[in-house]
Amino acid sequence: MSRNIIIIGAGLTGAVIARQLADSGTCSITLFERRDHLAGNCFTFRDPASGTMLHKYGPHIFHTNDTEVWTYVQRFALFEPFKHRVVARYQGRDYGLPVNLDTINAFYGTQFTSDEARAFIASRCLKLARPAANAEEQALSTLGHELFNAFYKGYIAKQWSRPPSDLPASVTARLPMRFDREDCYFGHKHQGQPRFGYTALVEALLDHPAITIHTETEITRADLRDADHVFWSGPLDAYFDHAEGRLGYRTLRFEELRAPTPIQGRAVVNYSDPDVPWTRIAEHSFFTPWETPREAVAFREYADDCGPEDEPFYPIRLISEKAILARYIERAKTEKNITFAGRMGTYRYIDMDIAVREALDCAAQFLRAPDDMPVFSASPI
Ligand SMILES: Cc1cc2nc3c(=O)[nH]c(=O)nc-3n(C[C@H](O)[C@H](O)[C@H](O)COP(=O)(O)OP(=O)(O)OC[C@H]3O[C@@H](n4cnc5c(N)ncnc54)[C@H](O)[C@@H]3O)c2cc1C
Repeated sequence: MSRNIIIIGAGLTGAVIARQLADSGTCSITLFERRDHLAGNCFTFRDPASGTMLHKYGPHIFHTNDTEVWTYVQRFALFEPFKHRVVARYQGRDYGLPVNLDTINAFYGTQFTSDEARAFIASRCLKLARPAANAEEQALSTLGHELFNAFYKGYIAKQWSRPPSDLPASVTARLPMRFDREDCYFGHKHQGQPRFGYTALVEALLDHPAITIHTETEITRADLRDADHVFWSGPLDAYFDHAEGRLGYRTLRFEELRAPTPIQGRAVVNYSDPDVPWTRIAEHSFFTPWETPREAVAFREYADDCGPEDEPFYPIRLISEKAILARYIERAKTEKNITFAGRMGTYRYIDMDIAVREALDCAAQFLRAPDDMPVFSASPI
């Protein structure tokens, strides 16, 4: 028997679920995508003028410790080795991020060894006898005042339009602090970029006779009839027509820069000073170092709260959003034959490897027990 499956969203989540169900030979899949392209927020395209592979919704780098996920994505795309390096520009000088031994020595004008740097930073840190109450306390207890103020305070305030003291500790809980000279941004075992971009990866995932794709088709709850099961990777609140209010997101605006020669000569520069209005500049040809662009293209990034017409990027997840989220979770539990998945279906920031992992697990669960599917592919809380 072939099961009739509807999938909403052609990002990595929708594409991996579609592919896994199609490969099982037991499902016929119809996938709907609101935009005029595949790949969701990972969408890349070749810029005609410069020849550069551009990342429309901000630069993406694949990094993971999950070897099964790494092996899986390589079935569908050739990955080139890529190590991401970021600098923070603060008061006209560049410093390596995440903060590492070289950052500490350059910033303080010292020549510490690892052990000396560790002891020195410990002496600058806020000592708390209780868990950090907010993002500022959390960062101060690992970086100390000077490093936090220089590299993160202004950046976070711009990224969130809120002072770090108003944000939950989780925002800064994952800021790495290194006492060696490793300047690679991610610490993961597997890191790379698909040679022909993320759109080609998603196209390859969806290239299966059991999958029918409709782009430029926005689906609402009322459209969902006659399916054995629906996988919804669009916004959770949109499914319920925002009946409980809007879940807050941050959106991004990109300002394009072009020049005949490299603009900043590296992939990403973060701007830590609060009086610089953009958060960072990404020069996209540096995400494909095996290619030579005809001209340089870079984007200044500005962050803002997301209005109804804007693209939602980062879930805000402050206390008020969590209250709204709890109400949507209760509503979702009363729905039948639907699973909310991916970054917007579960209202969480997730990296691409997590999106792939959760989609693989979600599809496997469906194939094992289709009548016993959870309403969320992962807990939104
Ligand atoms: C600026 C930025 C940079 C990032 N950089 C990285 C990085 O370097 N590395 C990394 O691992 N991760 C990165 N990520 C995270 C990455 O983008 C996500 O992991 C990934 O996009 C999740 O895929 P998804 O399919 O769950 O969601 P999406 O990619 O958002 O796909 C959902 C799709 O559903 C469609 N849709 C929504 N509603 C409807 C509807 N009603 N009807 C039809 N279609 C609908 C949307 O148009 C969208 O295409 C970054 C995220 C952002 C915001």
